[in-house]
Amino acid sequence: AEPRLVMVRATRISPRLTLLVLRDVTEHERVEQMRRDFVANTSHELKTPVGAVSLLAEAIEMAADDPPQVRVFAARLSAEASRLALLTSRIMNLSRLQSSDELTEERDVSVDEVVASSVDAHAIQADSAGVTVVRGGRRGLYVRGDAQVLSEAVGNLIANAIAYSPQGSSVGVGVKLVDGIVEIAVTDRGIGIAEGEQDRVFERFYRADPARARRTGGSGLGLSIVKHAVQRHGGEVRLWSRPGRGSTFTIRLPETLAPVEQAAPKRTRK
Ligand code: ADP
Repeated sequence: AEPRLVMVRATRISPRLTLLVLRDVTEHERVEQMRRDFVANTSHELKTPVGAVSLLAEAIEMAADDPPQVRVFAARLSAEASRLALLTSRIMNLSRLQSSDELTEERDVSVDEVVASSVDAHAIQADSAGVTVVRGGRRGLYVRGDAQVLSEAVGNLIANAIAYSPQGSSVGVGVKLVDGIVEIAVTDRGIGIAEGEQDRVFERFYRADPARARRTGGSGLGLSIVKHAVQRHGGEVRLWSRPGRGSTFTIRLPETLAPVEQAAPKRTRK
């Protein structure tokens, strides 16, 4: 974009010379625009579940004399409420990641632990979808950052891999070290993503195929959280995918040395 310059100060130095102090506000305006879009998208996305919740509450009131009906509406109300809770927590996470605040807790993080906790967190989802999650690759690597934020990022990739895979298939979570970069790759043999949509899936609230995305009950925020979380750690996310064949999302983060106590394990003599 063209830089936009705003005059901050003009000082007359001599009759023929004036000093102008200009500031480039392009970046500031871009961030402001992003913030406005975020608020607009967010309110739009919240309207649907909030509307559903209040309609269902009314329906329950009106069906008071009909207990079986009340139960049906109550179950739907509870489902909509959980969806709303998930959506709000994701919106908060994303807005925290987008803000300029520091990462809350930065330390040497074990990649093994990040992978283990994110796989564990999705064991029930994998089970009920009939999908097996298989771990592989390097062990004992470390990255610098916030373990919880990183686990959530890897977890979102695992959740998607399971959600967009057929029953009976498997999802791989592999770790590699390539030229000082730790690569955590989540691979599925699911429906894949069309070439033209591969950049767009990282946008907030974007869902490749609305009908299909609605069926899996997603929020369209998962990948945007992944992208921001990884960027906050000085890394990047890569995507390889082919429709009908599957997808691989790779989180790439700079390796850090293992904390001293782990780097040189003491030999214990018996
Ligand atoms: P959602 O909550 O809808 O899954 P995401 O931001 O996590 O939101 O993903 C955005 C969209 O990208 C999804 O709606 C889906 O269309 C597509 N997508 C994400 N991961 C995969 C995957 N592993 N396989 C196929 N499509 C995917």
